[in-house]
This record gives sequence, structure tokens and C-alpha cells, in this order.
Amino acid sequence: MTYKFCEHTFKNTIQATGVGIHSGAPATIILSPAPVGTGIVFRRSDITDKNNVIPADYLHVADTRLCSCFANEAGVSVSTAEHLMGALNAFEITNAFIDINGPEIPIMDGSANDFVTLFEKVGVENQDAPQKALKIKKEVVFTDDKGISVSFTPAQKNLTIDFEIDFAAQAIGHQAFIFTLSLDDFKKEIGFARTFGQMQEVQMLHQMGLGRGGSLDNTVIVDNDKILNPNGLRDKLEFVRHKILDTVGDLYQAGMPIIGYFKGRKSGHYHNNMILREVFKNPENYEIIDLNQ
Ligand SMILES: [Zn+2]
Repeated sequence: MTYKFCEHTFKNTIQATGVGIHSGAPATIILSPAPVGTGIVFRRSDITDKNNVIPADYLHVADTRLCSCFANEAGVSVSTAEHLMGALNAFEITNAFIDINGPEIPIMDGSANDFVTLFEKVGVENQDAPQKALKIKKEVVFTDDKGISVSFTPAQKNLTIDFEIDFAAQAIGHQAFIFTLSLDDFKKEIGFARTFGQMQEVQMLHQMGLGRGGSLDNTVIVDNDKILNPNGLRDKLEFVRHKILDTVGDLYQAGMPIIGYFKGRKSGHYHNNMILREVFKNPENYEIIDLNQ
């Protein structure tokens, strides 16, 4: 049986090496095919004395302060998975093993570009199972204790992300962008957008022993009205586009594509995870559909 909308995995095994933005530690990821029903699964190949398998779903998100970190019951974790997850969502890779020999996914150039190139190189395989999707049926809102909210409302098809940011730093300022997910548009509009940070944050992170792998090669650094990277921005809306990339990645924690309209205002990884928990809390909020029907 072949389905028009089916599950996907990688055609083969492929690897990439880079440094973690927070740990500064080098790590190699090995992407390999996985059977139907596996989902996206991280495996820490450097850990052999306890359970090293970490499913990349919303229930295994352990820390969202600086990035999205997944952890299992044994406390084994993998962090900064969001850009890789964004590419997995865009390519509709449903099943894959991702082996990593350290605690943090390499930041590469700070965007999803290298993962896109990697996926194109290895190829995507159709699998013999119908692709399911999470269809949002009711408005769902999550508001944090500072009043920052994110919401989902129903949509006819696809995932649309409507995002706005507002920074005091003039080089970022107010930016808004609405993006509907498809692989082509992800490659053209979102995948290239790099991680960014402000000078004060960078100093604070360094004091905390974080951001050690961060540099102008993988992060856009802003100092009030100045962009410190010698080549400037890749696009004038690169900041909000990056927030959308993070969101495309985080929302893949649902374990399948989402059909819904997401609105985010100054929100981040924490809100993206909490809204999924909110959706799944009440079965009236959603329906799992077969995309072929
Ligand atoms: Zn990011």
C-alpha cells in the first residue's frame, strides 16, 4: 500500500560535526533511518551506564531557559535541538534516530541551513504508513506569569506561525512576520535565519559559563543600534524569522505535523512547550487525523 501522505525517514546514514553554542564542546550527530512508529529519537552514544535514549516529544522537554533541552527519566539530556527539529518538521521526517556523542546539538552556522543541506544530501524515504497530523479544533491560549501569551486557533490546512517581537535594542526593534510551513518556503524564508543575542546577554552568559561556543560565525550579536557581525544581517527581518524557526522546531515536539494557526508575541521556547502541554491536556482541543482522508 502506498499513501499520498506517508511517514518519512532518511534514506541512509549521514553525520555532521560542530560545537555546542552553550557548552563550546564539539559533538558529532549521526542521523539514521528508523522504522515506522519510532518518532524522532535522540541517543547519547557517549553514555553507556544508563538509559541513553531520549524521545524528542513535548513531555521530554526539561529546560527551556536558553534553548529546548530534552531529557529522559535517567536525567540524560540533549540540548539546543530546536534548529535541527525545525528542519525535521519542514522535511516531514517522522522517524529518525539521532545519535550524538555529547550533551548539545552543534550550532553549525546558527541557522538551519546546514541541516537542510545534510537532509538533501542523504535523501528522504517514503514509508509505508499514513501520515497523521494534529488538527487544532478550539482556541487554546497559554499565558505566563509575566503576561506573555501564545495561542493556537483552528486552520484549514498547514501550520501558520504569526510572530511579533519587540526589543529595546534599536538594531532589532519591532518585527512581525507570518509564515505558513512548507518545505520550499522554509528553505527560502526561515531556514537561513541565525541565532541572535545582545551584547549584555553575551557577557552575562559568559559569566554563567554558557555561550562558550558562541561567536560571530554562528550568532548575530547586537549592541543597541549596532550589528557587530562584519557582514551584517542576511535579511532585515532575520530576527523574527529566527524566532519562527525556533517555533517550527519546538512545535514538532507534538510528534507530528500540526494543522493550526499559532500566534506568538515576544514568546520563546518555554511558551512553545507549554502551549503543546495545554493542547494535549484536553482531548476537545484537537483531533489526530489521517492526512489521506
Ligand atoms: Zn534558535
